Amino acid sequence: MNYTGVRGIEAEVEAEVKVDADANVDVVVIGAGQAGLAAAFHLRRAGYVPDRDFVVLDHSPRPGGAWQFRWPTLTYAKVHGMHALPGMELTGADPRRPSSEVIGAYFDRYEQTFGLRVHRPVSVTAVRESGGVPWAERAGDVAGRRLLVETSEGNFAARALVNATGTWDRPFWPRLPGQETFGGRQLHSSSYDGPESFRDARVVVVGGGTSAVQQLMEIAPVAAATTWVTRRPPVFREGTFGAEQGRAAVALVEERVRQGLPPRSVVSVTGLPMTEAIRQARESGVLERLPLFERVTPTGVRWHDGRTAEADVILYATGFRAALDHLAPLHLREPGGGIRMDGTRTLRDPRVHLVGYGPSASTIGANRAGRAAVGDLRRLLGTPPRPRALPRPRPAPAEAGVAGSLAS
Ligand SMILES: Cc1cc2nc3c(=O)[nH]c(=O)nc-3n(C[C@H](O)[C@H](O)[C@H](O)COP(=O)(O)OP(=O)(O)OC[C@H]3O[C@@H](n4cnc5c(N)ncnc54)[C@H](O)[C@@H]3O)c2cc1C
Repeated sequence: MNYTGVRGIEAEVEAEVKVDADANVDVVVIGAGQAGLAAAFHLRRAGYVPDRDFVVLDHSPRPGGAWQFRWPTLTYAKVHGMHALPGMELTGADPRRPSSEVIGAYFDRYEQTFGLRVHRPVSVTAVRESGGVPWAERAGDVAGRRLLVETSEGNFAARALVNATGTWDRPFWPRLPGQETFGGRQLHSSSYDGPESFRDARVVVVGGGTSAVQQLMEIAPVAAATTWVTRRPPVFREGTFGAEQGRAAVALVEERVRQGLPPRSVVSVTGLPMTEAIRQARESGVLERLPLFERVTPTGVRWHDGRTAEADVILYATGFRAALDHLAPLHLREPGGGIRMDGTRTLRDPRVHLVGYGPSASTIGANRAGRAAVGDLRRLLGTPPRPRALPRPRPAPAEAGVAGSLAS
């Protein structure tokens, strides 16, 4: 695996600084997935110093964001359109390796190269108004007030927040009549660990997104029978998904967010990409879709018209919701349940930025959001105390080297 950067330079690594509980920092970044690391990169490039001006907190055990938890059969080849983090490309990865390993290793290298000093495992439990820290309080000036970030390792007082907590921590389980009566196994796609545990079982897969399709295609060859149900008919997208289609999809999500509504699933705006494997699965009947059943029974599922399917397992590939419970004390939500935003900034609190949320919930969106959030925060916070000189370029190592650039 090679990491290549635009200019091929390594970041200087700051001398070790221990962050104490109750530390006073400019920015807390919550989450070290694609969105949080992109924000941290841009903070550092703007001159903010990790562990002095900003901290990055993540409650997962290892680098990789949500990728570290994805099922082992989700190989790197099955990941489509993964964008590299800013300043350091990921090339030459073995497409047969699990994406959890490939991307975990890449994120690890990225954090080290740019000295981002992610603190893990640190869980942010709540963010609230600090109630007027005397040294910081200036009436009417939000930048002078502090946010109290409560964590499993103590508190931080921050002038601003970049929230990059993704969705993996909030799998969405639909509530369906009769679920509690089912005698078999029910699981969410986030707990899927490959097809083996479905061998010889009769499986009902619920959900119309990419995970549903990928997991169904893996399970079908080993299962006794599979049934696929979706609330709405799936839309398979032929042809390429280029910049124009991407912009159109993002615009649809932005419109909902503007209206103060929660963002819908990715697949609802992008459709399902038609691949050769999907084409074959459709021809073989594996992707024969049925509408959502009326109820779950002790032995399977039943539709309105009396049809039934016997099942040993029901797999809910029904997506995720934004993991934002820790922000509840800030009252950012609108009556419609969503959070209104201007770019990445929440309208209800200009100190709070959401990256990887709604329109930026993709790897490319997360990159852009990280950059935009830092641009905005610089205006809010003013020039960092010690603007940071960019590292001097030096040639990239030829083989499997680290070549990152804070200048890209
Ligand atoms: C199965 C699957 C496949 C995908 N494939 C693709 C693809 O091929 N191409 C693509 O562009 N996108 C893909 N996506 C979407 C893509 O993964 C995401 O948009 C992007 O990686 C999310 O990055 P993130 O930083 O927003 O969140 P995450 O990667 O989820 O990172 C969030 C981080 O925040 C941490 N965290 C959460 N809550 C707290 C808390 N309270 N305190 C401290 N830390 C916290 C978590 O530990 C985690 O490390 C896929 C998504 C899924 C589910």
